Amino acid sequence: MKLNSKINLFFIALATVTIAILLIVSLLSFRHFSIQSTEAHIRTSAEIVRVSLTEAMINGMIDKRAQFLSRLAEVQGLKTARVVRGPMVEHQFGKGLSQEQPADEAEQRVLREGQPFYQLSENNGETIFRGTIPFVATNTGNPNCLQCHQVPQGSVLGAVTLTMSISELRNNALMTIGFVVGAVALSILVAMLFLRRLLKPLSVTANDVENAVQRAIHGDFRADIARRTNDEIGQIAEDLNRLMAFLNEGLSTIGNNVAQLIKHAPPAGSNLLITTVEMVEGLIKAAHFKQAIEEDETRAEIYQRLSDLMHDDFCFSYFSIYEVGSSNNQMTPVIVDGEKGGECRWCDPEILMRSESCRARRTGHIINSVESPGICYAFRPPSEFGTMHHVCIPIIQSGTVGSILQIVSSEDEKNLMQMYIPFINIYLRETAPVLEAKRLMDTLRESNLRDAMTGLHNRRFLEEYVETLVATSQRRKNQLSILMLDLDYFKMVNDNHGHDAGDAVLKALAKVLTQSVRSSDLVIRYGGEEFLIILQDTAEESADAVAEKIRSSVEALKIQVGGTTLQKTISIGISDFPKDSETFWQAVKYADVALYRAKEEGRNRVIRFDKSMWSDNKENY
Ligand code: GH3
Ligand code: MG
Ligand code: MG
Repeated sequence: MKLNSKINLFFIALATVTIAILLIVSLLSFRHFSIQSTEAHIRTSAEIVRVSLTEAMINGMIDKRAQFLSRLAEVQGLKTARVVRGPMVEHQFGKGLSQEQPADEAEQRVLREGQPFYQLSENNGETIFRGTIPFVATNTGNPNCLQCHQVPQGSVLGAVTLTMSISELRNNALMTIGFVVGAVALSILVAMLFLRRLLKPLSVTANDVENAVQRAIHGDFRADIARRTNDEIGQIAEDLNRLMAFLNEGLSTIGNNVAQLIKHAPPAGSNLLITTVEMVEGLIKAAHFKQAIEEDETRAEIYQRLSDLMHDDFCFSYFSIYEVGSSNNQMTPVIVDGEKGGECRWCDPEILMRSESCRARRTGHIINSVESPGICYAFRPPSEFGTMHHVCIPIIQSGTVGSILQIVSSEDEKNLMQMYIPFINIYLRETAPVLEAKRLMDTLRESNLRDAMTGLHNRRFLEEYVETLVATSQRRKNQLSILMLDLDYFKMVNDNHGHDAGDAVLKALAKVLTQSVRSSDLVIRYGGEEFLIILQDTAEESADAVAEKIRSSVEALKIQVGGTTLQKTISIGISDFPKDSETFWQAVKYADVALYRAKEEGRNRVIRFDKSMWSDNKENY
């Protein structure tokens, strides 16, 4: 309820209650006062009648009493005056005049009981007060009643009935009351008008403040409340204007800064406060996200986190993350609809083999089918989905597109997807450098653990990997066969055909070795022209068979080097882990011992380690 209405209501209630109380109290007291004073009048008049009658009796003029009474009735205020003769007086002096007989029951009762009787009655719109006062015989005074009347003291001699009109009195009273009530009502009205006038600036300012606050809730912090008075109310108006201006400026600055940070201005007419809070929240979440992915170990973990973000926070069901291969022209789906890896679901699979056919990959721009329908020909959603939209955002790493986030939405949700893009971009901007760093680290690590010439793993790789290898084989309780290989008389190749020819032989050999074993087996370039092969889960005899196959393949291998054909042989030593040794490196040593034996026995052969070889040759190692 508005303040003005409250004031009105209050004054109306106050006026009603005051006037009602005033009316009741005045009416009651006027009535009481009228009756009291009329009673007194009647008693006085009755006394006058008594005294006059007594005087008339003494002076022998009692016969003239009727005239006296009619003259008395003409006195101002009195209406009628009548004397009634009591039975004892009748008995002594005989019946009086005819009008001196008791006229009603009330007069008879007064004569009987000696108590005065009063009555208020209405007659033709006139209010009449009637009093019947008894004359009681006393022996006091001179002359006293008993000197003439032969009656016992205290007897009722007669009574006088007087009537008075109190209409005028009543009218005067009503007029007075009316005047007082009017005066009170008028003063309340004046007070109300004065108070309203006094409170007007308060209610207008309160209205203005309310409007300004309502607008602020809806994001509009401009307030210009007029200062109407020089008191606290005026101060409130001015302070609120200052506060709003301060908030407006602060929020605009924050909003602009955040908008610059996320490269997205809030839409015109949007709630400044809500959009700013949303944008800041987005930034904070992105900062936490960045911290999390920085501490992730692998790129796969980062992609998974990005996937969780898309699914849990942005509530997308359909989205993919593709990784562009660093050396080849291929792309791999690392996340498809929240799942790891999988098929290329939303695009022509050609993009996987020829990454240029992916528009986002080729241009490095965001490809948005909501803004440009049908922009990408490679977007091919399965037909059961109907019309679908996509936004493909390239994630730039080292200046090129390293990964692509593709979000797919239905017609219904395309606007929501569109709205989220600036916020998703915040995350992708944080992700890009972390992915780039992880990629570089991975490449570096990879190059460090591989031999550049043959592409095989190197000895450092084995040193790093051996712990996992041994733990896995122990857990699975399987056997590892270790093959140590060394080309026979390789030095001669270098000497006779040059170092390049030697390198060509080593490359050709590496190829033969990888082709001769399973992909789960490890081929390692252990030294210059020494190789180590670890066969996983291979029975003893089949390890011998693999070694023999390698030996014969090498023997049969013809290597073309600058017009000449080279053929080389290889010697191989075998040991088993953990059958031959409890430690892995000791087993490697045993394979080397067996190789040494193969060289000794004439080369181009496979020799399996035997305990006797160790005790025979211990001193040589
Ligand atoms: P053996 O049958 O006893 O093994 O005779 P060998 O000539 O192979 O003797 P050794 O193992 O001592 O010789 C190794 C030679 O391999 C020495 C070195 O010139 C050559 N070599 C090592 N690494 C490379 C390489 O990367 N490229 C080339 N071209 N030659 C290498
Ligand atoms: Mg050697
Ligand atoms: Mg050799």
